[in-house]
Amino acid sequence: MQTMAIVGASLAGISAARAARAQGFAGRLVLIGDEPHRPYDRPPLSKDFLAGKMTPEHLRLESPEDGEGADPLQAEWLLGAAARSLDAATRTVTLDDGTEIKADSVVIATGAYARTLPELAGLANVFTLRTLHDAQDLAPELVPGARLVIVGGGFIGAEVASTARALGVEVTVICSGAVPLSRPLGAEMAGTLAALHEINGVELICDASIESYYSGEGVVSGLRLADGRYVPADVVLVAIGAEPNTAWLAGSGLELGDGVLCDPMGRTNAPGVVAVGDCAAWLDEDSGEHRRVEHWSGATERPALAVTALLEPGAVRQPLNLPYFWSDQYNVRIQFAGHARDADRVDIEAGDPAAHSFVAVYYRGGQPVAVLGANQPRLFTKWRRQLNAERAVATQATAAAAQPVLAASPSFI
Ligand SMILES: Cc1cc2nc3c(=O)[nH]c(=O)nc-3n(C[C@H](O)[C@H](O)[C@H](O)COP(=O)(O)OP(=O)(O)OC[C@H]3O[C@@H](n4cnc5c(N)ncnc54)[C@H](O)[C@@H]3O)c2cc1C
Repeated sequence: MQTMAIVGASLAGISAARAARAQGFAGRLVLIGDEPHRPYDRPPLSKDFLAGKMTPEHLRLESPEDGEGADPLQAEWLLGAAARSLDAATRTVTLDDGTEIKADSVVIATGAYARTLPELAGLANVFTLRTLHDAQDLAPELVPGARLVIVGGGFIGAEVASTARALGVEVTVICSGAVPLSRPLGAEMAGTLAALHEINGVELICDASIESYYSGEGVVSGLRLADGRYVPADVVLVAIGAEPNTAWLAGSGLELGDGVLCDPMGRTNAPGVVAVGDCAAWLDEDSGEHRRVEHWSGATERPALAVTALLEPGAVRQPLNLPYFWSDQYNVRIQFAGHARDADRVDIEAGDPAAHSFVAVYYRGGQPVAVLGANQPRLFTKWRRQLNAERAVATQATAAAAQPVLAASPSFI
């Protein structure tokens, strides 16, 4: 293998580049990214960066562990260059300016973009938060007394609410479900954490749907809800989730769904092409479904497995850690590993949910399957390690049984 092209020069992309070099790939490594910046970290964008406690320099993902010198990964960096298309059969990436990059292997790491509300497109006081540029636009709006309305009750909305409150902003969160975060955490535990908003002076409006927007002179001034309530706004953040950046792959020959469909090592249906990070939907063997995992740890850990699959085409399945994320809200560190379902039994292992300091373990069929921690990092980590260890043993047993099939058919979607 002489050339590896990595499309998307952010967390999953640089993690794949590091893994390739660490696993002995000595050929040409091309990193293609449509943002003008070197890879940067997104989690602080809704936290310390938005709060004015960090500069862009603090966000840089390149570190001394990449080695010494100006080009430690010995990569060709094509930044500010969008990939327009891929021919998966010949592994040719075509850039917006028509440049073609023919590679022996391709890593797709194009991440996701923030969903928007078409009704609010182009209004000057309406924001989303995905990129450094977005955060730089939003930050100056968060001044004491400003009325911020956050549409969406997910993690990014909750984190911005928390950051904005600390800056003296008046915050309203509008959420379509009965309780924010019920999908990732299950309704029961999500309910305990939703209280954080109200305790911290945020108005939380659940089960809401927006009927109309009031706008004039290029800005939105308020929202009318279906129950007749009017919510005035100086600033609106639309935080209603993200979609995978896969439009450029239409016609590539790759199977697409909610993301690039991959096997449990990141292989797509095209030999020599893998997908990692927020744009990739790896097969989750527990549920039999392809799932995108939009968490920092997935974009950091999984690229090493996908690179192994590229460099060793017959590679045996390797254990995959449970999906893990953290979120910082109102001085509470929330950590979660696994997949929650509403039917899971939840036991409080330690602490007190009412005090927002606890560890809760989710059981399915009597087996622990997921763990949630709030301000209990040590005990949470112990549980997470235990669950990952149990999973590794199960994966190795399955892989050993399935090995002849995998070796004969590396792409088995
Ligand atoms: C505000 C914010 C806060 C977050 N906080 C947390 C947190 O607290 N905990 C947690 O676990 N996770 C958090 N996350 C999630 C985490 O940051 C993501 O999971 C991670 O960034 C995914 O990395 P990625 O490289 O797959 O995608 P991205 O970081 O989205 O990078 C993809 C890159 O590819 C580029 N690209 C897209 N299309 C093309 C193309 N056609 N050609 C070339 N380049 C292209 C994009 O512009 C981008 O630079 C947060 C995310 C955001 C946005």
